[in-house]
Parts: sequence; C-alpha cells; structure tokens
Amino acid sequence: MRNIFLLIFIFCATVTFNCYAQTPDSSGAAAKTFNVDSATEHWLNTLTPAQRAKSDSYFEGGYWLQLWSTLYGLAIAGIFLFTGLSGGIKKLVSRINNVNIRNLLYGAIYLLLSWLFLFPFTVYQDYFREHQYALSNLSFTGWLQEQMTLLVLMLVFGPLILVIIYFAIRRAGNRWWIWGAGICIGFGAFGAFIAPVYLAPLFNKYQPLTEGKLKTEILSMARANSIPAENVYMFDASKQSDRVSANVSGFASTTRISLNDNLLKRCTPAEIKSVMGHEMGHYVMNHVYKGLLETGVFLVILFGLVNLLFQQIIWHYGTSLGISSIADVTGLPLLVALFSLASVLFTPLTNTMVRTQETEADMFGLNAAREPDGEAHVDMMLSEYRKIDPGYWEEIIFYDHPSGRHRVHMAMQWKAEHLNDCK
Ligand SMILES: [Zn+2]
Repeated sequence: MRNIFLLIFIFCATVTFNCYAQTPDSSGAAAKTFNVDSATEHWLNTLTPAQRAKSDSYFEGGYWLQLWSTLYGLAIAGIFLFTGLSGGIKKLVSRINNVNIRNLLYGAIYLLLSWLFLFPFTVYQDYFREHQYALSNLSFTGWLQEQMTLLVLMLVFGPLILVIIYFAIRRAGNRWWIWGAGICIGFGAFGAFIAPVYLAPLFNKYQPLTEGKLKTEILSMARANSIPAENVYMFDASKQSDRVSANVSGFASTTRISLNDNLLKRCTPAEIKSVMGHEMGHYVMNHVYKGLLETGVFLVILFGLVNLLFQQIIWHYGTSLGISSIADVTGLPLLVALFSLASVLFTPLTNTMVRTQETEADMFGLNAAREPDGEAHVDMMLSEYRKIDPGYWEEIIFYDHPSGRHRVHMAMQWKAEHLNDCK
C-alpha cells in the first residue's frame, strides 16, 4: 500500500494506457480453411515452456505482492496509530496557529516517513525483483534517482491535496466525502493535463518520430483518424527496460500518443502499426475523459464507504487511538489504511473498467491498422511481463488489459472475417 492519495493522484494524473509489448511468426494462417481457435493456439505455442513458466511466475508473483504490500501498508498505519507516532507529529506541528499550515506540515512529515518505512518493500519490488526477471535496464543509481524524483513530486502535491481535503472536511461536514472525491478528480484532471508536458519528461526524453517511411505511414494513420500529426511522439523507454509499449496521455490540449523506442526498434512495421491503431483507439474514443468520469463515480463510492468505516471506528475506538473526529489529522493513517483496503476490494471492478477500454482499443486498432498478425505478434510479446493464458476469473480479478490469449483470439477472429481483404 503506497499512500492512497498519491495512488489516486498518480492514477488520475497519468491516465495513461500502457499497452503493448513481441515474438515469432504466424505462417499459414490465411488459408481458406482458417480456424480461429487453431490459429490462436498456433500463436500461443510460439512461447517455449521455459518462457511461459518465467512469465507465469513473474505475473502470479505479482498477485502475492498485492497482498503483501497491502499488509505491509496496514502495518505502517499500525505504527503511526498504535505507537503514538501520529499524535507525536501532530504535537510537533501544534505550535503553528494556522490549521492549514499545520495540516500541510503533518502531511509532508507523514508522507516522508511512510515513504521511508515502505522503502525496503519498494526496493525489492521495483528494483531487485525486476532485475531477477531481467525486466529492468536501470542501474541502482538510476533507479534511485527516479525514486527521488517521485518522492519530490509526492511531497509537492501530496500535502497540498491533503490540506484541501481537510479544508473540505471542516467546511462540508458530513458530506465531505463527496467533496473529497471531487477534489481528487480535479487534481486528477490537472495532473493528466500537466503529465505529458511537465511530469513524463522528468523520466524520459520525448521527441518527434524519426524521419522515414515508417513515420510517414504512422502519421498518415493518425491524420486518417483525425489525430493531429504533432500529437505523436517517441520516447527513450529503453533506458528503463526492453518492454515494448505505447500510451495515450494528457488532457484536453495536451493529449498525445507516445510510442516507445523499444517498439520502434524491436517490431516490424505491421506490428508497430497495430500498436499505433490501438493507441489511436484510446485517443479517438476519448478514453482519457471516460476514464476520469468512471474514476469519479468510483471515487465517490470509495470515499463514501471509507467515511462510513472511519466514523464507525472512531465512534468505538476514537479515544484510545487519540483521534477526536474525521477533521483531526491524527486520523490520517487510519483514513489511508481504509482507502487501501477498500481499493484492494474494488480491484476487480477497477481492472474491469480499464480492461474494457483496452478491449475497445484493440478492436479499433484491428480495424484501423488491418494487421491481425502484427497484432497477434505484439500480443505475444506481452508475455514477457504478463501471463499469457490465465483462467476466466483470474483475468477478471487481476488483469487491467485483456490477456494475451484473449487478444490473439480477437485478432484471429478479425482475420477470419477479412480473409479476402487483409494481407
Ligand atoms: Zn491500451
């Protein structure tokens, strides 16, 4: 459990749609007797047993990490609440007269300490484990620099959001949770707006596509779908990993499609076009705005639920925990713990919200790029970091993108219906 406000902010702020990632060849799929299921199996069998085992191990390990990180986060909340640490921080800042400044300082100290407590888990999950599976190109120093940048961003925006939420709690009383959800959405839209211009460049270099035939084809696809050519970028993701991906980010005038350099280096033109088609789907179908709207509804429910739970706990144990009311910043660790728990419970719902958009983008991409084998090839590359063939419920609960099997099957179905006109 990272700090939930940071999570919400980053989730809303980036509202990016990381997609893709490659493998071998689909020979003979365009025969007259094309069988969708057989073609799908053909693609899935391009993975060796060793590759599949590694991929499954990495992805399934991620399920456990979600559990451990939640428990780890609850333990951190316990340290703040049961050792008197939270009350101690409040006492430390209590000499300041202005309540907003007090809450700002409390928030900054709380976030910094939480980050430090969480650091051992973060190092294992984001650095050592990624290297264990050969999924990271970052040196420890490079990784740490990125973490420091994230920390600064958290300390700049996190306390500010907290101050505004506590202001809403004091002003709106029992209806604070509706305001709280609105504030998070507001910051989410703001974060999404500035992310591609001010935040993403802190981690990667973004530039126009390299001149050449491929650029001409990609920009032609963009123009054909009413996407301004100046809104398509490439960035140096190879400094972090070899993963193939692309995303749509931004809000209003900053909305853009970004293709990573691994995609451009490792994939064929057909594969790149299929990824571009998928990203254009996000762009053209306004998934950024729809995602924010859906997130807004979800946040209202989440805030309402957390408010109910918080009030019940304070009613029974407020005195022993040293928390006087919802407006008392001493209760922030409890609030964060409840947000974390509720968020985990809602994970199948939020994953399904995102996965639905990803499926839509896949369909748009197939129709726009008309490269079903390119699509299937790229889908197989996903297996580098995502289990290729999960169970039905496993996909619903844990997947924020359709599984590789699902995506390849969609591509082969599309191909089956276009045997006379696709390549
Ligand atoms: Zn996507």
